[in-house]
Parts: sequence; structure tokens; C-alpha cells
Amino acid sequence: MTARSTTAALPVPAAGSADAIHALLAAGSIANVSLVSAVDSPGIDKKAARLLDALAAILVSRAQHEVIAIGAQVQHSNDLSDHSGKLQLVLAANAALPQTIQAYLEEVWKCMQLLAERRQQLRPPEAKDQQRARMAGLIYRHNFPKFLRRVRKREAAALRFVEAMRNHVTGEDVLQYGSTAAVISMLNSYSKLIDLLSAHQVGGKNEVSVDVVSDPDFLPIMDGLWLAFRILRSLGDHSFHLWGLRLPDHSTVALWRFFNKVTLIHGSIAELESAACSTRLYRLFRKKLFVEIVDHPRMTVTLPTSKDAWVTLIDMALNTAQPLKPIEPRVIQSTAAALSTRFSDKSVSCEIHCECKILQRFATTTTYKIKPINYIGVSKLSCTGCTAVFDSYNELQNSQGHRFYTRGAHGKWYFPWFLPKVGGGEKQIDFTNRVYMKLAGQYAQYLKTVALSDSGALSEGSQEVSAGTPEDFMFLEANALELLDKIKA
Ligand SMILES: [Zn+2]
Repeated sequence: MTARSTTAALPVPAAGSADAIHALLAAGSIANVSLVSAVDSPGIDKKAARLLDALAAILVSRAQHEVIAIGAQVQHSNDLSDHSGKLQLVLAANAALPQTIQAYLEEVWKCMQLLAERRQQLRPPEAKDQQRARMAGLIYRHNFPKFLRRVRKREAAALRFVEAMRNHVTGEDVLQYGSTAAVISMLNSYSKLIDLLSAHQVGGKNEVSVDVVSDPDFLPIMDGLWLAFRILRSLGDHSFHLWGLRLPDHSTVALWRFFNKVTLIHGSIAELESAACSTRLYRLFRKKLFVEIVDHPRMTVTLPTSKDAWVTLIDMALNTAQPLKPIEPRVIQSTAAALSTRFSDKSVSCEIHCECKILQRFATTTTYKIKPINYIGVSKLSCTGCTAVFDSYNELQNSQGHRFYTRGAHGKWYFPWFLPKVGGGEKQIDFTNRVYMKLAGQYAQYLKTVALSDSGALSEGSQEVSAGTPEDFMFLEANALELLDKIKA
């Protein structure tokens, strides 16, 4: 039932075709569709997965619109005393990667190698601290445009919250409740960070010298900020949101997400450190590193050319999805009208999303000398199209060993987007069909719940959280009381 029109003026892609998938994603992208499916990723090495996600996060440098994915192939040597094995890291981005990316990654890797080497030696801990500081400096320099944008994003709201908390909380609250100490400590570190950025400002608010990351105060401030956020997260974000009830003029939901992003790079640095010092992974750092960058040319997608063509496309999707209750024609008509207005340019230049570029590279290279790790690190959660790709691809694998996973989905539909290749002939056709069926099903579900759509908030952080030590809490208390003392001064 491809319903291809007889008039040349109404070209509609066939159901289950790649172009029908592209058009469905375009349709979903203008709606506020947010259906998050549970992430099921059996058989992944969690430590390696967190390492890859952290590497993807620290590779980002642009202030906006940059997503990077990283896959890995490890060649183990049978001889334990032989460290000549190799590690191949495969990078892809949604746009061109900076020329310096390879040298940067190699440099960071070298720092991790030194940390791994020294992990058991009885050296003075300062040597480790120096190495760690060097790595953090490198990473913050690279990531600085993105970091600055994140820090500034809700600066005004965050500083208003700092003032409100200063007036509301007493020193006794801090000493009595660990979570209060953590909140105040986080706010104190944040205001110190803002002061430090001001001291290094070379023009407007967004013109801050990158040399701020070499300021001796920078790392200790970020360490404090990260520690407080990490502990709050381990206590549960409700301990932060409680303040939203006591100070209802402040959105703790937005602030929570904000602090999550401000500390994201620091969390990734901590993850890299922990991987380098891990008894299970440190051997990885003895291998020779190779970096490969994969890219695919942009492709042109042709979308339905009229409102009627969009109606046909939606009908086709509903035909595939077979919802229990029919969708009112009025909903279909108005949706098609909106789509036809939104996509007046029928030809759209599209890029394969970065995690799918890596999947394509691994899935279409049949002659592996070394098998890839079944996890692809990504600097962001995946969109609906990419999630459908990974789910469909994994369904086609008869052995679990050949499946690939990412950190999960944010449930949003993105377009421009282009379907990757995962094989030739029948395999690609079967795969394309599955992706189409998944998206048609989700789109039908969206049409059913048009009136009920809301945007779910998902945390970007993926690191596992450990609770703080008594020393950590002592630091939080002291840091928190420092902020309260500032009012009395
Ligand atoms: Zn995507």
C-alpha cells in the first residue's frame, strides 16, 4: 500500500523507504514529541562505557551545536608481558571536527597514560596532582567556549538564588543538615567562579581570557563545585528541590539542570582520572593509540512537496502503525498544513548523526582485525531517529556480541537527519523497514497524544555517583559557612 500518487505533482516516498523515514523525522521535529523509551543495554562494560562518554564530552569545544561520538577497537595481546596491543579510537561529529582534535586527544591520552603508570607507585601524591592539573588545564582550554556559555547561561538566576539562600539559611542549618551544607557550598563555589571569570574578563561578559583556567584558584573552585554537586546528586536531587518549596520565586528545576551542565566537564575529567587509575582498565593505557576520524558527505533529502503529499505520508504511517483508535482527520489535516508551511524548502541538506556514522563504520567494515567495543560514547543523549537506528540494528544481530549501545535517548525528534548504511542488499532493506516501523509507531502515538504533549527533562550526566567521605562533608560545611560569613562581614 505505497499509495504513490498518479500525478507527478504529488511525489510521496514509499512506506518503509529511507525517504519516508526522513519525512517522518521532519514531521516529528516540528512537534513537541518526547517519548523516552527505557534504555536496555545488557552486556556492556560500564567502566569502559563511562570512559567513552567522558572522552566524547571533553572533545566538544564549540559553544553550541556540536555533538561528538567516539567508538573504540581494542587489540589485546595474548602475552601479558607484551604491551604492543593497539587501541583505535574512532571519532565522528555532526559537523566538521577542528583540525587540532587528534593532537588534543593524543595529548589528553598521554596524561591518562602517566596517571595510569603512576597509579600504584609510592610517589608523592603531588606528582599525581600535577599530572591531573595538567590534564584538566588541557581539557578546560579546549572546551572553554562551551564551558563559558554553560556557566553564563543562568548566571543571573543562579546569583539571585545565592542571595536568597544567604538571607534564608543560618549557620546552624548548615551544621545540622549535610544537604544544606552541600547546596550552600555549591553556591559559594559558583559565586567564586563568577568572581574569578570577572577578574579575567577582557571585554564583554563573554570575552574572558582562556588563561583563567591556569589561574591557581580555578581548579580548586571547580573541585569544590563538583564535589558539592556530586554529593547533592548522591543524596537525590529532591534535597535541592526542597529549596524550591521554601523559596518559590526560584526555579530549582532549571537551576539543577544548570549546575549539572556547569559541572559536566569536571565530572568527565574525574571519570578519566578514575579510568586511568582503575585496576581493570589501566592496561588500556599501555597500548599504542591510533585515532581515526570518520565522516560522510552531506546528502540531499527531498520532502513531500504539498500539504496533500504530507497527508498521504501521515496516512501511510498510520496504516503501518495501526493505532487502536483512528486519528481524527482534522488533526491530520492541520498537522499536514503545518508541515507544508514549515518545510517550504523541499530539498534539505542532511548529515548522518555522529553516533550513526560510527555505527555505519563498524557495521559496514566486514574485515575486522580487531573487534569494536559494543558501546559508542556520545557527548549528548541520542535523538529519536538515532535511537530507532540502534534498536533496529541490534534486533538484526543474532549474537549479543555484535550489538551496539549508547548512553540513551532524550526522546526528541531531530531533522535534518540522514539514515546510515549498516549493510548491503537485504540487510539494509530489512533494517530500513524496521526503522520506519518504529518511527511510524511513535509518530502515531504522538498524534494520539497531541493535546497531552509535554517536554520531559532528562539529566545529561551519566557518571555513577558515590557518596562523600567525612572529609568531603567537612569541606562542604566550611565552604558553606564561608558564604554565610560574607553577609555578616
Ligand atoms: Zn541523532
